[in-house]
Amino acid sequence: MSDFIPPAKPIIGDEEREAVDRVLRSGMVAQGPEVAAFEQEFSAHFVQGRPAVAVNSGTAGLHLGLLAAGVGAGDEVIVPSFTFAATGNSVALTGATPVFVDIEPETFSIDPEAVAAAITPKTKGILPVHLYGHPARMRELEALAATRGVALYEDAAQAHGAALDGRPVGTFGDFAMFSLYPTKNMTSGEGGMVSTATGEIARRIKLLRNQGMERQYENEIIGFNARMTDIHAAIGRVQLTKVGEWTRTRQANAAFLDANLRGVSIPPVADGAEHVYHQYTVRVLEDRDGFVAALKSEYGVGAGVYYPIPNHRLPSLASFAPGLDLPETERAASEVVSLPVHPSLTQADLERIATAVNALAKAGS
Ligand SMILES: *Cc1c(COP(=O)(O)O)cnc(C)c1O
Repeated sequence: MSDFIPPAKPIIGDEEREAVDRVLRSGMVAQGPEVAAFEQEFSAHFVQGRPAVAVNSGTAGLHLGLLAAGVGAGDEVIVPSFTFAATGNSVALTGATPVFVDIEPETFSIDPEAVAAAITPKTKGILPVHLYGHPARMRELEALAATRGVALYEDAAQAHGAALDGRPVGTFGDFAMFSLYPTKNMTSGEGGMVSTATGEIARRIKLLRNQGMERQYENEIIGFNARMTDIHAAIGRVQLTKVGEWTRTRQANAAFLDANLRGVSIPPVADGAEHVYHQYTVRVLEDRDGFVAALKSEYGVGAGVYYPIPNHRLPSLASFAPGLDLPETERAASEVVSLPVHPSLTQADLERIATAVNALAKAGS
């Protein structure tokens, strides 16, 4: 059997190593000028110059963003259940209640009608996830938030560079979080970046990330240590210069798979949407887990299932959703398979993925 094709593969080059070395040699490794430069460059690159604040993980970015937006005990925040646990967790960590709603089947993102039905007087905001790198239904959600008087936030952990009608994700919500974990579309090692609608929200996130201090030892509020280091920022700055090309490669890889896969549903792209293919996710209607196992054992293709257990059924979060039934979420959780689409794939890798999927999908039907 040929070499294993991993489901994700961060690309780290000599430039990243040199940047880290430069910071290490400077002797100043904690949050400093590299972080400030990374924030500015990220903002210009992805979110049209909105304020951006770097933190030490995407999860911290969501948590601090929600706190800075005033979310706390007694509030409700409407979230999809079909997402990584960090989405629901970050709401719960503020003391607020995550209200889980269903997705719409096309894009796997939160269903605006389900959101509308879930709004109560306690609803503080809506936190859609741009799952797999495809923008959520932001036109409808933005209108809904405005007419119902609730806030809009964004979990853009998987969606660096995704856009709707030319407007980038990360520019819709009061805040938006981008993850910089190694398997995401770009990395800083660990890290997160939060873009904000106002300088005031950015200021509060900066306070929360640094023990509630703006001036040394004059702590204004109770805060965290969620600072990014200059070592991580230096990696992120180099990755920023490459991520555009990687995204184009992801999109070209996806186009190849779209044209060559048979027997599985290919990922739809909504009108006006720019999909950045953090994942290339298909549905397999029968024996999904057997399909994933055979891709690996028979063809050396590493596929992933994101996510087999939705947030509202996780032991950690289930108490927020007793007896909740979310049919499209359940169906997606049992059918989805994410095939490798990352920019390290060779043409031979892509052909092997197509051969494997077509053989197994046929054998299964
Ligand atoms: C990765 C991810 C997060 C959390 O980001 P970390 O940097 O790993 O803390 C949150 N939400 C979604 C949808 C993610 O994919």
